[in-house]
Amino acid sequence: MPAASASWGGDDMGRHSKAVAEFWVTIREIEERKRQFEDWAADLPDDQKRTLHRAHALKRQAAIEAGRFYIPKRPDYLRNLTCGARTRSGQPCRMTALFPNGRCIWHGGKSTGPKTKAGRERALENLKLGRLKRGKSWD
Ligand SMILES: [Zn+2]
Repeated sequence: MPAASASWGGDDMGRHSKAVAEFWVTIREIEERKRQFEDWAADLPDDQKRTLHRAHALKRQAAIEAGRFYIPKRPDYLRNLTCGARTRSGQPCRMTALFPNGRCIWHGGKSTGPKTKAGRERALENLKLGRLKRGKSWD
């Protein structure tokens, strides 16, 4: 019997295969912890899931902005997460297409305008351009 087919964890295991085995144990532990987290997250109320949704959206956004190859995929426990805002009929909103803030296109709240100095300048430029196009002078 060749040494290569010896049972895992045997005494005749080389240092390298021991390191490989330990690596796989670590991977399995991480996956196990991840699975436990996902089980835990799946039972959370929607309000807390929305917090997780925000965290996921930020991570995703960061990965896209950094041009990373791996974009985190939407975890299963966030599937069918609804907007949940109170609607005019009194029922919670059932939209599932959510923005990073955890609300749908109708319930994110109004924009509060550009935040940065550059953004404000850009907005002012666009305002001037629009007025010029419509034949109104700015000054
Ligand atoms: Zn909504």
